[in-house]
Amino acid sequence: MSSFYSPEGIQVEAPVFNTLPRLPTPLGSFLYTSSYFRNLSVVDRLTALPLFQALLEFDADEETYASYDAMSARELFRKAGVSAKLYREFLQPILLVTLFAPGEQLSAAAALGALYYYVLAHQADFDVFIFKPWLELINSQGCRVLGNNRVVDVIHDDESNKITGIVAMDGSGERTVYDADVVVFAVGVQAMQRIVASSPALAGRPEFATISNLGTVDVLATRLWLDRRVPLKNPSNVLAGFEPTTGATVFDLNALQNEFADEPGSVFEVDFYHANQLLPLTEDAVIKKVIDSSILRFKGAVTLFGPGSHQHMPSTTTSFWNVFMLGDWLQQGPGAHGARGLSQEKASVTGLLAANAAASSLGLKSQVEVLPVEEDEAHIAAGKSAAQTLRQAARAFGLRSPFL
Ligand SMILES: Cc1cc2nc3c(=O)[nH]c(=O)nc-3n(C[C@H](O)[C@H](O)[C@H](O)COP(=O)(O)OP(=O)(O)OC[C@H]3O[C@@H](n4cnc5c(N)ncnc54)[C@H](O)[C@@H]3O)c2cc1C
Repeated sequence: MSSFYSPEGIQVEAPVFNTLPRLPTPLGSFLYTSSYFRNLSVVDRLTALPLFQALLEFDADEETYASYDAMSARELFRKAGVSAKLYREFLQPILLVTLFAPGEQLSAAAALGALYYYVLAHQADFDVFIFKPWLELINSQGCRVLGNNRVVDVIHDDESNKITGIVAMDGSGERTVYDADVVVFAVGVQAMQRIVASSPALAGRPEFATISNLGTVDVLATRLWLDRRVPLKNPSNVLAGFEPTTGATVFDLNALQNEFADEPGSVFEVDFYHANQLLPLTEDAVIKKVIDSSILRFKGAVTLFGPGSHQHMPSTTTSFWNVFMLGDWLQQGPGAHGARGLSQEKASVTGLLAANAAASSLGLKSQVEVLPVEEDEAHIAAGKSAAQTLRQAARAFGLRSPFL
């Protein structure tokens, strides 16, 4: 179970949907959470219904996606008539913890993608999973992971349109060149902006230069060791409404990770998303009533899926035939794999796609099967195709979607 907290207490709990009989979406999410909503009336929840049309049509094609991308999520919800309470107490918190920014700063297309992927597409999609670290596996395959080395430039061969080497700099400032058959960039948006800024060969290519247009969001991650156990109703929790534009998650690590199961006191991971105004606070102002703590500040670390951002985001392939990209900030429009939002799952899936593309660029047989997300349920697929047909007919008469 996960809980959504506001300053008034628990607003809603999400059961582990996997264990419940499956119903067509969004009926399952709607029915199974019904008894768990404390303050949001059915009337408030039903004001989300007009959004269904937007969900069915927003990623039908590039043109529609770009139109939704140009609009803010808040504007879309307002046009759809979503109640202020539903927005404030449910939609805004979901956006803050999946795309790390409030609705007025997010593209409507990205917001719809996140809502569909996390809440609606299939009943069990909102369950929380934890990914195990892969470092040992990577080492066991004969790879070498170099810590404390930053890529600062690339070596470019004009004739073959290839990046033939990577320039890395260690902590002492010493530079080493590594020859490369293929290059896969697996860094976050801010790191990529820095690499592009110091690599003329990359800066000269439009798909890399345009990355500098992407905005970023600040995140604060805290881990608190308390002097006693403080029981939480559920191990994973979403907090919203405590600060107007900041959302947070609280994970009970005693319950979720073996490493902390036997700790005498509670160990909580409390992460604040869109924490711009919290980053300048002193450690003391952040910590209260704890025996140990760790605070990590991630300034500008994650991508803002802002209105109009889609056009500046990279995709797996680049204009260099041997250079590929991955990350949770890659383009996610029509035709992209179904994993969405600022999540480890999207990072992982885009990583597998980049690895396959890199392998086939070298003439190797692709090694990894990338499973698609579960297909749309039949009634959703039918709804999408009906929405497409209606839109084409409406266009012939010069009519547009009420949201665009
Ligand atoms: C506080 C916080 C909480 C989160 N909570 C969740 C969650 O609960 N669930 C979830 O699914 N996702 C969560 N996310 C998102 C998740 O962490 C990301 O989606 C995921 O880590 C992205 O993986 P990545 O490999 O693409 O990038 P990263 O994990 O950012 O890895 C990039 C790596 O590149 C390295 N690097 C940077 N610059 C260079 C350079 N110049 N040369 C070489 N290496 C470089 C970095 O050191 C880093 O190791 C959270 C993110 C944050 C910040």
